[in-house]
Amino acid sequence: MNKNQDKNQENVTRLLDNEPVGKTVQVVRVMGDGAFRQRLLEMGFVRGAKVTVLKNAPLKDPVEYMIMGSHISLRHSEAAQIEVTDQDAEFCDMEDAFNGIVETEVAGVDPLADNVLRVVLVGNPNCGKTSLFNNVTGAKEKVGNYGGVTVDSKEGWFSIGGRKVQLVDLPGTYSLTEYSPEEMYVRTYIRDNHPDAILNIVDAGNLERNLYLTTQIMDMNIPLVVALNMWDELEKSGDKLDIEMMSRLLGARMVPLTAYNGHGVKEVLQATMDAIDESEQETLHHNVNYGTLIEDSLKELGDMCPELDRYTVLKVIENDQHAIQLLDGKDNADEVKQTAAEMRQRIERDYNDDIVSIITDLKYGFVRGALAEALTPNPERTVGETKPGYSMDRLLTNRWLALPILLVLMWLMFEATFTLGAYPQEWIESGIGWIGEWIGKAMPDGILRDLIVDGIIGGVGGVLVFLPQILILFFFISLLEDSGYMARAAFIVDRVMHRVGLHGKSFIPYLIGFGCGVPAIMATRTLENRRDRIVTILTVPFMSCSARLPAYLLLVAAFFTANQGLILMSIYLIGILVAALTAIVLSKTILKHDKTQFVMELPPYRKPTARNATIHMWSKGKQYLQKMGTIILAASIIVWALGYFPRHEGQTPQEQVENSYMGKMGKAIEPIVEPLGFNWQMGVSVLTGAAAKEIVVSTMGVLYTGEADATEESTSLKEKLQTATKPDGEHVFNPIIAYSFMLFILLYFPCIAALAAIKREAGWKWVAFEVVYTTGVAWLVSFLFYQIAIRL
Ligand code: GDP
Ligand code: MG
Repeated sequence: MNKNQDKNQENVTRLLDNEPVGKTVQVVRVMGDGAFRQRLLEMGFVRGAKVTVLKNAPLKDPVEYMIMGSHISLRHSEAAQIEVTDQDAEFCDMEDAFNGIVETEVAGVDPLADNVLRVVLVGNPNCGKTSLFNNVTGAKEKVGNYGGVTVDSKEGWFSIGGRKVQLVDLPGTYSLTEYSPEEMYVRTYIRDNHPDAILNIVDAGNLERNLYLTTQIMDMNIPLVVALNMWDELEKSGDKLDIEMMSRLLGARMVPLTAYNGHGVKEVLQATMDAIDESEQETLHHNVNYGTLIEDSLKELGDMCPELDRYTVLKVIENDQHAIQLLDGKDNADEVKQTAAEMRQRIERDYNDDIVSIITDLKYGFVRGALAEALTPNPERTVGETKPGYSMDRLLTNRWLALPILLVLMWLMFEATFTLGAYPQEWIESGIGWIGEWIGKAMPDGILRDLIVDGIIGGVGGVLVFLPQILILFFFISLLEDSGYMARAAFIVDRVMHRVGLHGKSFIPYLIGFGCGVPAIMATRTLENRRDRIVTILTVPFMSCSARLPAYLLLVAAFFTANQGLILMSIYLIGILVAALTAIVLSKTILKHDKTQFVMELPPYRKPTARNATIHMWSKGKQYLQKMGTIILAASIIVWALGYFPRHEGQTPQEQVENSYMGKMGKAIEPIVEPLGFNWQMGVSVLTGAAAKEIVVSTMGVLYTGEADATEESTSLKEKLQTATKPDGEHVFNPIIAYSFMLFILLYFPCIAALAAIKREAGWKWVAFEVVYTTGVAWLVSFLFYQIAIRL
């Protein structure tokens, strides 16, 4: 036991999970081990930190807490890992371990030969890195008030004082511990690319937590400038920060900044250049002073492996596997490991705690100590009181109103996307049709004309028709992300999503999936955990997208007289059910995940800007056209060619399709689809529908009526389907076959556009999995349904 705890053993500790709403308590310790515990410590759940229970989500789980001025949502099961005690219980040693800084001498670095510098942006999620990046480089990257918006790095350029500087926007991280993919990415990037300086962006309104990362960066001994972003908010809050004193205490340059309007950008860049220039001479580096015992250990171990920076040496003492791996291949590796282990034991014995908590506590102690000197909080504010940026929460996450509001907002977004989007979509369709007709008239008959008119222009049309919806949808998503509402949506529905092993953040992609799978898959970008992302991507295609609706409408109208609405709805529900079961199975088997992902920060609400939303909209639109357009176009041409060749003179369109390669394939697969109640015409429709599911209807139109422009409303097609008979005189369709066919259309092979999106987000391996899996499931479900239904 720690000496401070000895005095107060009678203090009762409880679990955070059992604390009532409104209560403020102090953290004693976080139980458990591994990544999850580390994440909680880094988010501020360290000994003595005050936590206030703010509210339960409307479905009771998760719970929102306030710690160190930021709002964090934890599930009950996670809060049960945190031991707490009454506020101001004596044990809590808030007299902080501020020992100031130590200085390390570092040899000067050679100025770069080509005079090109590299500066990296590092900081917590949502602290304004991308805003600064865009401002400085003139880039138009997406900013967002929602974690996980920047998943990979972005590079841009700027010039200052005649020098060219490359600026790199890295993903947001709370720490560099290499537990999460983002942390790993940032840490590896810094290690491999040796930037000339690190520009650490911190949220000035939330320094305690933000500066924790700074203490880690300081140990890397790379020239460092700390930009105190959101300075506008700090000033508004009434808190006072003595920047000069703070810089001195931390031993790092600090510059105020308001990234989104550009105030202070020049000063920040100049300070960065000064820091780089200074590092060209031999300089003193400033590091957190961890106290004599740890400092001596650091020095001793550092001397044994001079090529490692202080950060890594400390990590070796902490028994961090990534750092220890770096020792491999060194002559004295075993000796170093042995010494580090002894040091660790000694430190743990002395501090009576485990090493990870000790170091985290010391780092937070350092930050708190410095803040106690330099920051004067607005005296009118008390612990547990939320900042003004959270006032909307009263309404938006209200126990009774949260779900209705969420549903209304989602409905609005949906209506706007798919109803408003239908107009430009029609214009594009008729524009394409008009161009096709014009070229058709201008060119002589022949294969080339057919290729251009039906293959290429048709294919381009297939790409372009989605564009309006993608633009509108991402405009709305950007508004939701930027305002901070998206994090609340995840908070509200997390309980439901948790049931199937996912995070609340998966909700939005699923919802979008009912409109179109392509933007839905693109929207999974905001999921931090890769496994969650893949599970979501693979299950989104089961949400019945709007392209499948024409086929349902045709079949329902033709074969069901009563309960048409219910029948249609049952199809959608089956899609959801299959998605849920798939998600459960995947997240329990091949995509099993660890626990780091569940902790989520709820950022303050911010006013979204039209500029941001527009930028996001265009970047998604461009991404769609560039990356997916090519695949969709190529695939459309292939499908066209399969239906077009071989050519025979004097055939009706019907005979042409029947004798084409596609027709032959349809006939070849007839034995496979027969057990589902399908004939070869339906087999062909399913095959052509692989390009895009709305083609199912037009193919049936060609095969049954000879009209290429059949729609779900054509009475002639409906009647033909109702009266079509097999050679033996039996009807081709009946309600059971129609339903089985609808099930198949719902579940099988996502369209090529969706696969192109899956390829981009998850890679070919998962495309292959998805093709096999969805088609397998579709076959099985239709088979079971048909075989059981005809026997009833
Ligand atoms: P990143 O996650 O670090 O890249 O942060 P972003 O650049 O995406 O910004 C997160 C949110 O903070 C966005 O809503 C920005 O508009 C907002 N923001 C960025 N800089 C400032 C600032 O200086 N003041 C205020 N009030 N908001 C800012
Ligand atoms: Mg960003």
